[in-house]
Amino acid sequence: MSVIGKPVKRPEAKGLLARSYLPSILKGMWITFRHMIRPKVTMQYPEETWNMPDRYRGLPALVKDDDGRTKCVACFLCQYVCPPKAIHIEAQEITTGVEKGPRVFDINMLRCIMCGYCEEVCPEQAIFLTKEYQTVGLTRESMIYPKEKLLAMGGILPDPIKKWSRLAPPGGATPPAAAPGHGGGAR
Ligand code: SF4
Ligand code: SF4
Repeated sequence: MSVIGKPVKRPEAKGLLARSYLPSILKGMWITFRHMIRPKVTMQYPEETWNMPDRYRGLPALVKDDDGRTKCVACFLCQYVCPPKAIHIEAQEITTGVEKGPRVFDINMLRCIMCGYCEEVCPEQAIFLTKEYQTVGLTRESMIYPKEKLLAMGGILPDPIKKWSRLAPPGGATPPAAAPGHGGGAR
């Protein structure tokens, strides 16, 4: 069998000191020592967690306005644009001036790719991508977040416009003044 290529001659350690590997050992120990006295950059997760930057896009969540009203009007736009079909909405009629709201609003976090399309398309600013990045669960079912959990994650987003508070309810009666709990209880 013919030998392919040329054998490479390895450089030999010169001198007794080099052959004892002592300089290499000391060099390695010096690097270890330097790292011992440097500030630590590792984090004790999960006791410590990252404070994500403002522009980070994490799990999506629903929000209520400062009157406690669920802002989503179940228009289905986010369900329509969601690339992996992670959102499932079922609408219901409500009696607070707004035509309808979500009876069911689930997001399958196993599918969600945190693309932000739902936030972009929402006409009501009802859905936002939070900084939450911990997507863990023991079952597939527990990773499907229901409306109540999404609302708890999103919290309250103050609404300076409150267009639904000015909308006359069916029958032409005077629209109810915005008050705490307006609309929220009907959803
Ligand atoms: S962030 Fe993207 S993938 Fe996740 S629910 Fe919204 S549209 Fe769907
Ligand atoms: S979250 Fe926004 S886009 Fe999605 S159904 Fe509700 S109002 Fe429409």
